[in-house]
Amino acid sequence: MSTFRAVVIDRDGNGQSVSLKNFSEAELMDGDVTLRVTHSTLNYKDGLALTGKAPVVRRFPMIPGVDGAGVVEASNHPDFQVGDRVVLNGWGTGETHLGSYAEKARVSGDWLVPLPRGMTPAQSMAVGTAGYTAMLALLALERYGCTPADGPILVTGASGGVGSMSIALLAKAGWHVVASTGRPAESAYLKDLGAAEIVDRTELSGPGKPLAKERWAAGIDSVGSTTLANLLSHTHYGGAVAACGLAGGMDLPTSVAPFILRNVALLGIDSVRAQKALRLQAWDRIARDLDRDKLAAMSTTIPLADVISAGADILAGKVRGRLVVEIG
Ligand code: NDP
Repeated sequence: MSTFRAVVIDRDGNGQSVSLKNFSEAELMDGDVTLRVTHSTLNYKDGLALTGKAPVVRRFPMIPGVDGAGVVEASNHPDFQVGDRVVLNGWGTGETHLGSYAEKARVSGDWLVPLPRGMTPAQSMAVGTAGYTAMLALLALERYGCTPADGPILVTGASGGVGSMSIALLAKAGWHVVASTGRPAESAYLKDLGAAEIVDRTELSGPGKPLAKERWAAGIDSVGSTTLANLLSHTHYGGAVAACGLAGGMDLPTSVAPFILRNVALLGIDSVRAQKALRLQAWDRIARDLDRDKLAAMSTTIPLADVISAGADILAGKVRGRLVVEIG
């Protein structure tokens, strides 16, 4: 029976265990495209899955890894042929469907996009769901009508994956980017990515007022909780905030004041079930606009075996930028 190497999460009466082991190809789930996975990455959600700190995984055994890049090995899908290079983000991989911390994956071809033009598989995973989500947030702000001429934009969780990518993409789009971080030692890194100003995240993490001084025209938030509440209360009249994360908590202790007195909009961002046309638009724009030197500066490469310990690191806020997982 044919097997491949995979990080596997198992669960028994004693709880969850994670190991790198051989996995039987016969156990792959349904799908019309089989991939040889060459690269993956580590997102916050992968950290939750690997550590079991939140009930992200909903079937066992599970191969985590919400993102993958690889080569089509077999296909019954009309859009993909053997040898095509593709990228996979979300759609429940690593949660309900076997994911990409493995040498092989079998998925629906409807979930795949072609490897973006001008990007290597490793670069596409340096972007990963974090970068594609940052672009979804930027596109949402633009659809709402926000422009750099409106004023500065705040990026929270700045040293993380979504934050780092947001800074690089917003700076390229002409925004005056203010980066909120709990890691002042990363100020030079954040400025190199394109941040014009740094604020300490403690300015936003305590309980705030329903309305506070108008400081930012827009925001991209990956932290949630009081940070998002404070960002909303500091947003200019008519501004908008794209909310995509919960690194600081899932709650949102705010009031209706920013919405009904300042006409502020809260735009929700979901990457997992985003439709294909929007994914393709996001990846095209990333391929066109993302400075490859900045991408390299925010990326570190690790082997597949190291992803298990890195899962705890990302939840502890110890990962800077993006981690690429080399598999092939
Ligand atoms: P990272 O861990 O890379 O980044 C999160 C950052 O948030 C940290 O680097 C840190 O930045 C900051 N942070 C962490 N803990 C706290 C805290 N307790 N209070 C305030 N700030 C904190 O994760 P990702 O960038 O991969 O993901 C960020 C969030 O976005 C996660 O919640 C993730 O689940 C979510 N997400 C959602 C998606 C969607 O589809 N909606 C897609 C992708 C991610 P610093 O040290 O600079 O302060």
